[in-house]
Amino acid sequence: MPELGPIEPLLILGISDYHCHCDFSADAEGSVDDYCRAAIERNLVELCFTTHYDGSQDGISSDEFIRIDGELHPVSPDNLAPYVDAVRQAQEDYYPLGVSVKLGVEFGWYEGCEEAAARLKERFDFDYFLCGIHSLDNLCFWRHGANKGCFDIYSLEEFAERYFDQVIKAARSGLFDAVAHLDYYKRKAYNHYGDAVADIHRNYLPDVFRALVESGTSLEVNTAGVRHGLKEYYPRVDIINAAKKAGVEVANLGSDAHLPSQVGFDFEGAAALVPSRVVEDRD
Ligand SMILES: [Zn+2]
Ligand SMILES: [Zn+2]
Repeated sequence: MPELGPIEPLLILGISDYHCHCDFSADAEGSVDDYCRAAIERNLVELCFTTHYDGSQDGISSDEFIRIDGELHPVSPDNLAPYVDAVRQAQEDYYPLGVSVKLGVEFGWYEGCEEAAARLKERFDFDYFLCGIHSLDNLCFWRHGANKGCFDIYSLEEFAERYFDQVIKAARSGLFDAVAHLDYYKRKAYNHYGDAVADIHRNYLPDVFRALVESGTSLEVNTAGVRHGLKEYYPRVDIINAAKKAGVEVANLGSDAHLPSQVGFDFEGAAALVPSRVVEDRD
Protein backbone atom coordinates (compact mmCIF):
# COMPACT_ATOMS: atom_id res chain seq x y z
CA MET A 1 0.00 0.00 0.00
CA PRO A 2 1.39 3.45 -0.86
CA GLU A 3 2.12 5.94 1.85
CA LEU A 4 -1.13 7.75 2.63
CA GLY A 5 0.19 10.68 4.57
CA PRO A 6 0.67 13.32 5.42
CA ILE A 7 -3.02 14.08 4.95
CA GLU A 8 -4.23 17.17 6.73
CA PRO A 9 -7.96 17.40 7.44
CA LEU A 10 -9.72 20.17 5.53
CA LEU A 11 -11.04 22.84 7.87
CA ILE A 12 -14.04 23.47 5.61
CA LEU A 13 -16.75 20.85 5.79
CA GLY A 14 -19.15 19.67 3.11
CA ILE A 15 -16.54 19.44 0.34
CA SER A 16 -16.54 16.92 -2.50
CA ASP A 17 -13.74 15.75 -4.76
CA TYR A 18 -15.10 14.85 -8.21
CA HIS A 19 -11.90 13.84 -9.95
CA CYS A 20 -9.50 11.19 -8.71
CA HIS A 21 -7.62 8.26 -10.19
CA CYS A 22 -6.99 5.05 -8.28
CA ASP A 23 -4.67 2.30 -9.49
CA PHE A 24 -7.08 1.10 -12.19
CA SER A 25 -5.57 4.09 -14.03
CA ALA A 26 -2.16 3.06 -15.35
CA ASP A 27 -0.58 6.34 -14.20
CA ALA A 28 -1.97 6.32 -10.63
CA GLU A 29 -1.16 4.56 -7.36
CA GLY A 30 -3.36 3.49 -4.45
CA SER A 31 -6.44 1.28 -4.26
CA VAL A 32 -10.05 2.43 -4.12
CA ASP A 33 -9.90 1.76 -0.37
CA ASP A 34 -6.75 3.88 0.05
CA TYR A 35 -8.52 6.83 -1.60
CA CYS A 36 -11.66 6.40 0.48
CA ARG A 37 -9.63 6.34 3.69
CA ALA A 38 -7.77 9.45 2.52
CA ALA A 39 -11.13 11.15 1.84
CA ILE A 40 -12.22 10.40 5.41
CA GLU A 41 -8.98 11.82 6.79
CA ARG A 42 -9.48 14.95 4.67
CA ASN A 43 -13.06 15.45 5.94
CA LEU A 44 -14.55 15.11 2.45
CA VAL A 45 -18.22 14.21 2.20
CA GLU A 46 -18.11 12.86 -1.36
CA LEU A 47 -15.46 11.21 -3.48
CA CYS A 48 -16.06 10.51 -7.15
CA PHE A 49 -13.65 8.13 -8.86
CA THR A 50 -12.87 9.06 -12.46
CA THR A 51 -10.46 6.47 -13.81
CA HIS A 52 -9.03 7.04 -17.27
CA TYR A 53 -10.80 5.43 -20.21
CA ASP A 54 -8.71 6.28 -23.28
CA GLY A 55 -9.60 4.78 -26.61
CA SER A 56 -8.27 6.09 -29.90
CA GLN A 57 -9.46 7.20 -33.29
CA ASP A 58 -8.43 4.04 -35.12
CA GLY A 59 -9.10 1.72 -32.21
CA ILE A 60 -5.64 0.16 -32.34
CA SER A 61 -3.01 2.79 -31.70
CA SER A 62 -3.95 3.60 -28.09
CA ASP A 63 -1.09 2.97 -25.71
CA GLU A 64 -3.36 3.50 -22.74
CA PHE A 65 -4.37 0.70 -20.41
CA ILE A 66 -6.56 -0.25 -17.48
CA ARG A 67 -4.72 -1.86 -14.57
CA ILE A 68 -6.46 -4.80 -12.93
CA ASP A 69 -4.75 -6.55 -9.99
CA GLY A 70 -1.39 -5.10 -10.98
CA GLU A 71 -1.61 -6.17 -14.66
CA LEU A 72 -2.14 -3.81 -17.58
CA HIS A 73 -5.02 -4.63 -19.91
CA PRO A 74 -6.29 -2.95 -23.09
CA VAL A 75 -8.97 -0.30 -22.67
CA SER A 76 -12.36 -1.96 -23.18
CA PRO A 77 -15.74 -2.02 -21.47
CA ASP A 78 -15.06 -5.57 -20.21
CA ASN A 79 -11.80 -4.46 -18.63
CA LEU A 80 -13.53 -1.53 -16.95
CA ALA A 81 -16.02 -3.84 -15.21
CA PRO A 82 -13.74 -4.75 -12.25
CA TYR A 83 -13.25 -1.02 -11.58
CA VAL A 84 -17.00 -0.46 -11.61
CA ASP A 85 -17.48 -3.35 -9.17
CA ALA A 86 -14.75 -2.04 -6.83
CA VAL A 87 -16.25 1.47 -6.70
CA ARG A 88 -19.78 0.17 -6.19
CA GLN A 89 -18.48 -2.01 -3.33
CA ALA A 90 -16.74 1.02 -1.78
CA GLN A 91 -20.03 2.89 -2.02
CA GLU A 92 -21.56 0.31 0.32
CA ASP A 93 -18.52 0.07 2.60
CA TYR A 94 -17.87 3.79 3.12
CA TYR A 95 -21.39 5.17 3.25
CA PRO A 96 -21.71 4.22 6.96
CA LEU A 97 -18.33 5.89 7.56
CA GLY A 98 -19.51 9.23 6.21
CA VAL A 99 -18.20 9.35 2.62
CA SER A 100 -20.55 9.17 -0.32
CA VAL A 101 -18.60 7.37 -3.07
CA LYS A 102 -19.55 8.02 -6.69
CA LEU A 103 -18.81 6.10 -9.84
CA GLY A 104 -17.33 8.25 -12.57
CA VAL A 105 -14.97 7.89 -15.47
CA GLU A 106 -12.69 10.33 -17.29
CA PHE A 107 -13.42 9.50 -20.89
CA GLY A 108 -10.53 10.56 -23.12
CA TRP A 109 -12.15 12.51 -25.96
CA TYR A 110 -11.08 11.99 -29.56
CA GLU A 111 -12.71 12.95 -32.83
CA GLY A 112 -15.47 10.47 -33.64
CA CYS A 113 -15.65 8.84 -30.17
CA GLU A 114 -19.33 9.60 -29.62
CA GLU A 115 -20.58 6.10 -30.35
CA ALA A 116 -17.97 4.44 -28.13
CA ALA A 117 -18.78 6.89 -25.32
CA ALA A 118 -22.52 6.31 -25.66
CA ARG A 119 -22.02 2.52 -25.59
CA LEU A 120 -19.91 2.77 -22.45
CA LYS A 121 -22.59 4.86 -20.75
CA GLU A 122 -25.23 2.34 -21.74
CA ARG A 123 -23.27 -0.50 -20.22
CA PHE A 124 -22.44 1.13 -16.86
CA ASP A 125 -24.65 3.33 -14.77
CA PHE A 126 -22.13 6.12 -14.11
CA ASP A 127 -22.90 8.85 -11.60
CA TYR A 128 -20.54 11.21 -13.43
CA PHE A 129 -19.27 11.12 -17.00
CA LEU A 130 -16.28 13.43 -17.30
CA CYS A 131 -14.68 14.49 -20.57
CA GLY A 132 -10.87 14.70 -20.54
CA ILE A 133 -9.14 16.02 -23.65
CA HIS A 134 -5.48 15.02 -23.56
CA SER A 135 -4.70 14.65 -27.24
CA LEU A 136 -5.52 15.93 -30.73
CA ASP A 137 -5.51 13.78 -33.85
CA ASN A 138 -4.19 10.83 -31.82
CA LEU A 139 -1.20 12.88 -30.65
CA CYS A 140 -0.69 13.72 -26.99
CA PHE A 141 -0.34 17.40 -26.24
CA TRP A 142 3.34 16.96 -25.55
CA ARG A 143 6.08 14.55 -26.55
CA HIS A 144 6.11 11.15 -24.83
CA GLY A 145 9.46 9.46 -25.19
CA ALA A 146 10.18 9.12 -28.90
CA ASN A 147 6.58 9.97 -29.88
CA LYS A 148 5.94 13.44 -31.18
CA GLY A 149 3.29 15.51 -29.46
CA CYS A 150 0.93 17.93 -31.17
CA PHE A 151 2.98 20.87 -29.91
CA ASP A 152 5.70 19.56 -32.27
CA ILE A 153 3.33 19.67 -35.24
CA TYR A 154 1.07 22.69 -34.81
CA SER A 155 1.72 26.38 -34.44
CA LEU A 156 0.18 27.85 -31.29
CA GLU A 157 -2.71 29.28 -33.34
CA GLU A 158 -3.34 25.95 -35.07
CA PHE A 159 -3.26 24.16 -31.75
CA ALA A 160 -5.75 26.57 -30.17
CA GLU A 161 -8.16 26.38 -33.09
CA ARG A 162 -8.12 22.58 -33.16
CA TYR A 163 -8.24 22.17 -29.40
CA PHE A 164 -11.19 24.46 -28.74
CA ASP A 165 -13.00 22.98 -31.74
CA GLN A 166 -12.78 19.61 -29.98
CA VAL A 167 -13.99 21.10 -26.67
CA ILE A 168 -17.03 22.48 -28.49
CA LYS A 169 -17.69 19.14 -30.20
CA ALA A 170 -17.39 17.30 -26.89
CA ALA A 171 -19.84 19.68 -25.20
CA ARG A 172 -22.28 19.60 -28.11
CA SER A 173 -22.28 15.78 -28.04
CA GLY A 174 -24.39 16.13 -24.89
CA LEU A 175 -22.73 13.00 -23.53
CA PHE A 176 -20.83 14.51 -20.64
CA ASP A 177 -21.71 15.91 -17.24
CA ALA A 178 -18.58 18.04 -17.25
CA VAL A 179 -15.47 19.00 -19.17
CA ALA A 180 -12.29 18.45 -17.13
CA HIS A 181 -9.34 20.85 -16.85
CA LEU A 182 -10.29 23.24 -19.68
CA ASP A 183 -6.81 24.69 -20.19
CA TYR A 184 -4.77 21.64 -19.20
CA TYR A 185 -2.53 22.15 -22.27
CA LYS A 186 -0.81 24.99 -20.44
CA ARG A 187 0.91 22.43 -18.21
CA LYS A 188 3.61 22.09 -20.86
CA ALA A 189 2.63 24.57 -23.56
CA TYR A 190 4.44 27.46 -21.91
CA ASN A 191 7.72 25.57 -22.27
CA HIS A 192 7.06 25.05 -25.94
CA TYR A 193 5.33 28.21 -27.16
CA GLY A 194 6.22 30.78 -24.50
CA ASP A 195 4.05 33.38 -22.78
CA ALA A 196 1.59 33.74 -25.67
CA VAL A 197 -0.12 30.58 -24.34
CA ALA A 198 -1.73 32.64 -21.58
CA ASP A 199 -4.19 34.25 -24.01
CA ILE A 200 -4.92 31.66 -26.68
CA HIS A 201 -8.35 30.83 -25.23
CA ARG A 202 -9.68 34.35 -25.55
CA ASN A 203 -11.20 34.24 -29.05
CA TYR A 204 -12.71 30.81 -28.51
CA LEU A 205 -14.35 31.18 -25.11
CA PRO A 206 -17.67 32.68 -26.29
CA ASP A 207 -18.32 29.66 -28.54
CA VAL A 208 -17.08 27.23 -25.88
CA PHE A 209 -19.32 28.76 -23.23
CA ARG A 210 -22.34 28.77 -25.58
CA ALA A 211 -21.80 25.07 -26.31
CA LEU A 212 -21.52 24.26 -22.59
CA VAL A 213 -24.64 26.23 -21.68
CA GLU A 214 -26.77 24.89 -24.53
CA SER A 215 -25.77 21.29 -23.84
CA GLY A 216 -26.04 21.58 -20.05
CA THR A 217 -22.40 20.54 -19.63
CA SER A 218 -20.56 21.91 -16.61
CA LEU A 219 -16.95 22.94 -16.10
CA GLU A 220 -14.87 21.52 -13.30
CA VAL A 221 -12.35 23.43 -11.21
CA ASN A 222 -9.27 21.23 -11.29
CA THR A 223 -6.69 22.08 -8.63
CA ALA A 224 -3.88 19.97 -10.13
CA GLY A 225 -2.45 23.04 -11.87
CA VAL A 226 -1.06 24.14 -8.52
CA ARG A 227 0.43 20.70 -7.98
CA HIS A 228 1.99 20.99 -11.45
CA GLY A 229 3.77 24.18 -10.37
CA LEU A 230 1.59 26.65 -12.29
CA LYS A 231 0.24 28.63 -9.31
CA GLU A 232 -3.24 28.47 -10.84
CA TYR A 233 -6.05 26.01 -11.41
CA TYR A 234 -7.33 24.45 -14.62
CA PRO A 235 -8.90 26.67 -15.77
CA ARG A 236 -7.58 29.94 -14.45
CA VAL A 237 -9.86 31.86 -12.08
CA ASP A 238 -10.59 34.63 -14.62
CA ILE A 239 -11.82 31.94 -17.05
CA ILE A 240 -13.95 30.40 -14.29
CA ASN A 241 -15.49 33.79 -13.57
CA ALA A 242 -16.13 34.49 -17.25
CA ALA A 243 -17.77 31.06 -17.58
CA LYS A 244 -20.08 31.76 -14.66
CA LYS A 245 -20.98 35.15 -16.12
CA ALA A 246 -21.88 33.42 -19.39
CA GLY A 247 -24.21 31.07 -17.51
CA VAL A 248 -21.97 27.99 -17.52
CA GLU A 249 -22.43 25.74 -14.51
CA VAL A 250 -19.20 25.44 -12.52
CA ALA A 251 -20.23 22.68 -10.20
CA ASN A 252 -17.39 20.53 -8.95
CA LEU A 253 -13.89 20.61 -7.57
CA GLY A 254 -11.51 17.93 -8.76
CA SER A 255 -8.06 17.27 -7.36
CA ASP A 256 -7.11 14.93 -10.24
CA ALA A 257 -5.33 12.95 -7.52
CA HIS A 258 -3.04 10.22 -8.80
CA LEU A 259 -1.94 9.39 -5.24
CA PRO A 260 -4.19 9.08 -2.15
CA SER A 261 -2.29 11.91 -0.48
CA GLN A 262 -3.43 14.26 -3.28
CA VAL A 263 -7.16 13.85 -2.59
CA GLY A 264 -8.75 17.23 -1.90
CA PHE A 265 -5.50 19.00 -2.77
CA ASP A 266 -5.69 22.81 -2.31
CA PHE A 267 -9.46 22.68 -1.78
CA GLU A 268 -9.26 25.33 0.95
CA GLY A 269 -8.25 27.77 -1.78
CA ALA A 270 -10.71 26.51 -4.38
CA ALA A 271 -13.80 25.87 -2.24
CA ALA A 272 -15.29 29.32 -2.76
CA LEU A 273 -15.34 28.80 -6.54
CA VAL A 274 -18.09 26.18 -6.47
CA PRO A 275 -21.43 26.05 -4.69
CA SER A 276 -21.24 24.17 -1.40
CA ARG A 277 -22.81 20.78 -1.71
CA VAL A 278 -25.49 19.37 0.49
CA VAL A 279 -25.35 15.61 0.32
CA GLU A 280 -28.95 14.59 0.09
CA ASP A 281 -28.71 11.03 -1.05
CA ARG A 282 -27.69 9.47 2.26
CA ASP A 283 -30.58 7.22 3.21
ZN1 LIG B 1 -7.32 14.49 -17.48
ZN1 LIG C 1 -7.73 13.00 -14.47
